[in-house]
Amino acid sequence: MQYYSTNGKAPIADLQKAVVKGLAEDRGLYMPEKIHQLPKEFFDHIQEMSFRDIAYNVASAFFGEDVDLDALQELVYDTLPFDCPVVKVTDSIYSLELFHGPTLAFKDVGARFMARLLRYFTSSTSDTSRTSDTSSKTINVLVATSGDTGSAVANGFLGVEGIHVYVLYPKGKVSPIQECQFTTLGKNITAIEVDGVFDDCQALVKNAFMDEELNNHMMLTSANSINVARFLPQAFYYFNAYARMKALGKTDQLVMCVPSGNFGNICSALFGHEMGLPVKRFIAANNANDVFYNYLQTGQYNPKASVQTLANAMDVGDPSNFARILNLYSKNGARTPEETHAAITSLISGATYSDEQIKETMRQCYEETGYILDPHGACGYQALVDGLQEGEIGVFCETAHPAKFKEKVDDILGIDVEIPARLAAFMEGEKQSVPMSKDFSDFKSYLLNQA
Ligand SMILES: *Cc1c(COP(=O)(O)O)cnc(C)c1O
Repeated sequence: MQYYSTNGKAPIADLQKAVVKGLAEDRGLYMPEKIHQLPKEFFDHIQEMSFRDIAYNVASAFFGEDVDLDALQELVYDTLPFDCPVVKVTDSIYSLELFHGPTLAFKDVGARFMARLLRYFTSSTSDTSRTSDTSSKTINVLVATSGDTGSAVANGFLGVEGIHVYVLYPKGKVSPIQECQFTTLGKNITAIEVDGVFDDCQALVKNAFMDEELNNHMMLTSANSINVARFLPQAFYYFNAYARMKALGKTDQLVMCVPSGNFGNICSALFGHEMGLPVKRFIAANNANDVFYNYLQTGQYNPKASVQTLANAMDVGDPSNFARILNLYSKNGARTPEETHAAITSLISGATYSDEQIKETMRQCYEETGYILDPHGACGYQALVDGLQEGEIGVFCETAHPAKFKEKVDDILGIDVEIPARLAAFMEGEKQSVPMSKDFSDFKSYLLNQA
C-alpha cells in the first residue's frame, strides 16, 4: 500500500516509511491510497467472531499487502490479550468500554500495535532495503501527551529492543495516576516534564521532526495519533462494537459517539465506515475545546489555544487528525470546501460540554443507572442523551477507566472508585522526569546530547 500526504507536497511513501517517519516531509499526515472494503460474508458472521479475529480481518485490509499474514496475525493477537465489551447503560445507550488494556486507556491498542509493527520492520528488514547506518541505530519515539497517550505508548513500547521513547507532558496538568504510568518505568522510557500546556508539547515534537540537524543526529519517529500505525488499528474497536450490537439484534440505526481530542479515534471509526461498517452516523463529542464543533456549524476551521478541562485528554485546540477527515471527505481535494463540509455534516454531528455539564452528566448517569462515567466518556454519553433520534441506538466510547481520574470522579460523585490492581502497581514506583522549558532550542540541545 502506498501512503500520500494530506498536504500533497511530499513523495509517496510505503507503510514502513510512513510508520518510521510518522509525519510526511511537507508536515502533512499520511493517508492510505486505497481503503479496501470488507466482504459481505465478514459482516454476515461478525457477531460470532472474537475481538482478536475481527481485528485480524480489519488489519489485513489495512496492512495485508505489506506485512506477512502469519506475522500480522501474531502481531494482532499479541496486541490484544484483552477484550472490549459493550455494556448496556440505558435502553438506547450502550458503553463501548475501551479501557481494558494494560494502562486502562483506549490508546493501548494503537500503541501496542505500533510498537510491534516497528519491531517487525526493524527486525525483518534486510540491509538492502534500508541504508546500513539507520538499521543499526536506535529509533527514538517522541510522544506528546495530555495524559493518556504517554502511559499507553510508554507501556506499549516498554522493553522493546532498539527503540527509545521520550514522553513529553505538560507540568501539573496530568493526573497523578497518569503521571506515574510513564514516569516510573525507567528502561527505554524517558519522561520530559514541559513547563507549558499540551499544545506546547505537541509543538516541540512537531518541530523536532522538522529539524534537519536533529534528524541527522538521531532517528526520530512519532507515536501520536498522526502515525498511521497508531490511529488505524483503533478501527478494530468499531467493528467489534458492531459485532457485539449485532449479537443483541440492535444494528438497524446505530449511532457511534466518540469523545474526541486529536480526532485520531473517530478518524479510525470513519475509516471503518469507508470499509463498509454499517453505522448510520457518528457524533464527535467534545469538552469546552470546540473547534471541530464550530467547524460543523460554520464550515470555518479556526484552531485556537486549548483550554484546560476536566476531560484533559481531550484538551486540544488544533486537532491533528482534522486534516485527515478533511482529506477523506474532500476525496483528496477533488471537492470544494463547501461540498466537503456538506459531506462531513451529513455523516458527523458534534457536541460540546463545559466542565459544569460534564459533572452534571456524571452525577445524573450514576444516579439513574448506577454506571460510573469518567469525564471523557461523560461527553460521549451526554451527546447521545441529547442527540439520539427516535429509533436510534447509540454506542459511546468510554475511553478511560474512571479510576484513572479517581480524584475528580470521587469528588464529583461522592464515592470511592476502586483502583484496579494493575493501576495501583504503577503507583509504587519512583517518579523520574527531566524538566524542560517550552522553547524548542532547549529541547533540541537536550536531544543532541542524547545517544
Ligand atoms: C486520547 C483520549 C481521547 C481523545 O482521543 P483522540 O483520538 O485524541 O480524539 C479521549 N479520551 C481519553 C480518555 C483519551 O485518552
